Amino acid sequence: MARIVMKFGGTSMAGTERIRRVAQLVKRQAERGDQVAVVVSAMAGETDRLVNFCREANALYDPAEYDVVVAAGEQVTSGLLAIALQAMGCKARSWLGWQMPIHTDSAHAKARIGTIDNEALLASMAGGTIAVIPGFQGLTDDNRISTLGRGGSDTSAVAVAAAIKAGRCDIYTDVDGVYTTDPRIVARARKLKAVTYEEMLELASVGSKVLQTRSVGLAMKEGVRVQVLSSFIDENAPDADSIPGTMIVTDEELEKSDVERQLITGIAADKNEAKITLTRVPDRPGAVSNIFAPLAEANINVDMIIQNVGRDKGETDVTFTCPQADLARCTDVLQNQREAIGYNRLISDTKVAKISVVGVGMKSHAGVASTMFTALADRKINIQAISTSEIKVSVLIDEDETELAVRVLHTAYGLDAE
Ligand code: ADP
Ligand code: ASP
Ligand code: MG
Repeated sequence: MARIVMKFGGTSMAGTERIRRVAQLVKRQAERGDQVAVVVSAMAGETDRLVNFCREANALYDPAEYDVVVAAGEQVTSGLLAIALQAMGCKARSWLGWQMPIHTDSAHAKARIGTIDNEALLASMAGGTIAVIPGFQGLTDDNRISTLGRGGSDTSAVAVAAAIKAGRCDIYTDVDGVYTTDPRIVARARKLKAVTYEEMLELASVGSKVLQTRSVGLAMKEGVRVQVLSSFIDENAPDADSIPGTMIVTDEELEKSDVERQLITGIAADKNEAKITLTRVPDRPGAVSNIFAPLAEANINVDMIIQNVGRDKGETDVTFTCPQADLARCTDVLQNQREAIGYNRLISDTKVAKISVVGVGMKSHAGVASTMFTALADRKINIQAISTSEIKVSVLIDEDETELAVRVLHTAYGLDAE
C-alpha cells in the first residue's frame, strides 16, 4: 500500500461532468489499496475571472484581499469533488488551506509554503478517507489566506506529497506528458518519457506552464517523484502506476535509462512578460541600483536586463523585463522614484514574447546560441534582448512572431517528430 497524491488542473475540473470523471480516476486509484490525497485547481477560466474582478475594483489592489478573492475558485472544486466521490460510495472530505493548515509566508499572491501540519490529515487518510485539498492556497502566520502564484496548485500537490511522504505525485492535466515544446503550438512536438528536474525547472521558469516552476524546485529539493499525465483517458487506458506519462527524474536516473539525450531538451515561449525602457538614465555608479533596489523592495521579479553603452552626455538607456501582472506596480514604483533615478521617459511594451531553448547538453557544446540567432534571422525575426544561463538561451521578440519562432527553432534543433 502506498500513499499517492493526485493533482487535477483546471481543464480536468471544468464542470460537474469532468469532476465526476476525475472522481472515477481517484476511486480507481484508491481501490488499488492506496491512501489517496487529491489536490485540485479551480475550474478552467475561473481564476482569470476572479483576478479580473480585482483589477476592475482597483488596478493597484491589495494583494492580501486579492488572495481572499482568488482562493475561492479552489474552495468550490474541492467541495464538489468530495461530493462526487461520496456519491460513488467513497469516504472523502475536503481540507481547506487554513484547516490543515498549509503554512506560508506573507508574500501575498506569490506566497511560499513553509510547513504543512500533516497529523490530522494522515490520521484521516489512514482511516480510509480520501483527502481533497484545494491547491493554490495557504495560511499566513497572521491567519490570513494566501495564494501561491498562478499555476500554484502544482506546488501545493508536491508540498503535500512531501509532507505525507507519498510514493508519487501524479500531476493530471490536459496533455499526456511533457513535450519538447507546447504540443498546442507545434503539432510535431515529441513526448518525453523522462526529463530531469534541472531541465524541467528551467523549462518551467521560462514559460512552459505544464508545471509551475516552484513545484519542480520543491520536488527536486524534497526528492518527490513526479509524473505528468493526462486525465482525458478512458477506462481501458493503462493505469498511472505503469507510468504512461512523463517522469521527472534525476540526472543519474536518466543516465541509467534508455532515453537518448538530445542537445536541446525543449523550447518554451512566454507571452506574460512586459518590457520596460527608461531613457537617459545617468551613466554612473549606483544608477542601476537606484532602479532595481526599489523594485526588489516591492517584490517585483526582474528578468532580462540590458544597459546600453553610455552616450556622450553621460546618459544611457536601461531596458528590462518583468511579469505583465506586475507592470502596473512596477510603473508606479518607478514613477515615484523618478527624481532619485533621474530618467527621462518610461516606455512599456507588453507586445513581447520570450522564447527559450533549454538543454543540459549545451553545458558541453558550443554553438547553441548561434544556431538560435541564425534560425531566427533567416525568418527575419528581430531579437530585442538576450539572456543566458548554463543550460538555457532566451531571446525577447515581437509577440506576433511567437508561434513562428518556436516552430522554426524546433526544426532547427532537430526536435520534430517523424
Ligand atoms: P492545468 O490546468 O492542468 O494545470 P496547464 O494549462 O497549467 O494545465 O498546463 C498544461 C498545458 O501546458 C498544456 O495544455 C500545454 O498547452 C501547455 N504546455 C506548455 N509547454 C508544454 C510542454 N513542453 N509539454 C506539455 N505541455 C505544455
Ligand atoms: N487556479 C490557479 C490558477 O489558475 C492555480 C492552479 O490552477 O494551479 O493559476
Ligand atoms: Mg497548471
